[in-house]
Amino acid sequence: MEDTIAAIATALGEGGIGIIRISGENSKSVLKKIFKPANPASLENRKMAYGNIVDPTTGKIVDEVLCVYMKSPKTYTMEDVVEINCHGGMVPLRKTLELVLSNGARIAEPGEFTKRAFLNGRLDLSQAEAVIDLIKAKTYRTFDVALNQLEGVFSGTIKEIRKKLVDILVNLTVNIDYPDEDIEQITYEKLGLDLSNVLDDIEKLLSSADTGRIIREGLAVSIIGKPNVGKSSLMNSLLKETRAIVTEIPGTTRDTIEENISIKGIPVKLTDTAGIRETSDVIEKIGIEKSKESFNQADLVIFILDSSRELEDEDLEIMDLINPEKTIILLNKIDLIQKIKKEEILEKMPGVTLIETSMAKRMGIDEIEKKIVDLVYGGKISQNNNVMVTNVRHKDILEKSRQSISDAINMVNLHEALEFIEIDVNSAYESLGEIIGETVQDDIINEVFARFCLGK
Ligand code: GDP
Repeated sequence: MEDTIAAIATALGEGGIGIIRISGENSKSVLKKIFKPANPASLENRKMAYGNIVDPTTGKIVDEVLCVYMKSPKTYTMEDVVEINCHGGMVPLRKTLELVLSNGARIAEPGEFTKRAFLNGRLDLSQAEAVIDLIKAKTYRTFDVALNQLEGVFSGTIKEIRKKLVDILVNLTVNIDYPDEDIEQITYEKLGLDLSNVLDDIEKLLSSADTGRIIREGLAVSIIGKPNVGKSSLMNSLLKETRAIVTEIPGTTRDTIEENISIKGIPVKLTDTAGIRETSDVIEKIGIEKSKESFNQADLVIFILDSSRELEDEDLEIMDLINPEKTIILLNKIDLIQKIKKEEILEKMPGVTLIETSMAKRMGIDEIEKKIVDLVYGGKISQNNNVMVTNVRHKDILEKSRQSISDAINMVNLHEALEFIEIDVNSAYESLGEIIGETVQDDIINEVFARFCLGK
């Protein structure tokens, strides 16, 4: 018998209500020991019951609550589940939880409720992983993709690929084991076609992985440029509220400022850095080091030039560090008299994306946002596509499977023995099973659930 587990399921802090969740065979009996319902006939399946939590040893009322008992198997964990709605402060929640724990339940580990849902077969592993993504989603787009994964659309795609592999494996096995029987002879040509078809499916999923990672984890955007070019102003324009301090004294953004925003549903982590420039000022040096660091880690760099000032050596030095493929150059302050021409920059950095802006007049912001959206979707993935590889674990497995299938195709082309081909096809089949948790090792399962928060 599994232990009965319990935890506070809502975020800690002060709120109207806070919920304690209990799961396992003893859920109801634990509740009965500490709950005095106003109507003794209550505690029916799925019916809210009103009453008090009472300490059985002292008879003292701990909190006034609403409780619900949900009978197995139609529950989150597929076990008997109880939820106690307490007043949402630390004291009532803690005190009630203590009573739950001293009356037959033990504290749940992080993710243990969802882990039980997985082990009891209600969710597969990729669906369980979606639960955590759903909770952590910061934009509607991220949420939609996670919800799709939770509903099993992503798993369904994986299962279809595995089904194709099963058909190939059955055919291979029959031909290997009973070559003399009167069965459909496998041809290398058909085998090659079937495997290429599977390879296409895997490639298609993998092509969504870069976008998927960004949708889940956010796009790291680093804003760089000399002091006073308009970095904080850009940050503010994108934030549409004044949080970074805008000032006229050069070099006042000493350290980096980070903000999370949503651009058309894409979560964006903005970092405003101190200007990259040679300086003897110690504090500013730290800022510069940080700039270079975040510059290397960024998915996208926005490099701002003040077009009302001549290009200086340090602008050119920064340009040398830039990778034009992941950079947008802004020619800012175009409302003032121009000292830098667009052509001058394009000559130095052919092919780079250059946008003329005025933070003062709010010009060019839309174009920056559009460029970011284009960059993330890369023309490959539609913005409505909700089946994406968002998870690094899934991506690694898909890459491994792609390798096995490619190896198998190579052997088919060389007309190698079916036994050898079967090994690779089987290995792809097994690997893909790890995504949904069918062929997965316990330690990987534990690692997946350890990332959850308490009470989930
Ligand atoms: P940072 O040091 O790079 O963060 O630059 P700030 O954003 O603090 O801007 C420095 C100064 O330039 C401030 O006085 C801003 O108001 C001003 N500024 C920023 N963008 C523009 C612009 O497009 N046009 C004009 N005229 N002034 C701007």
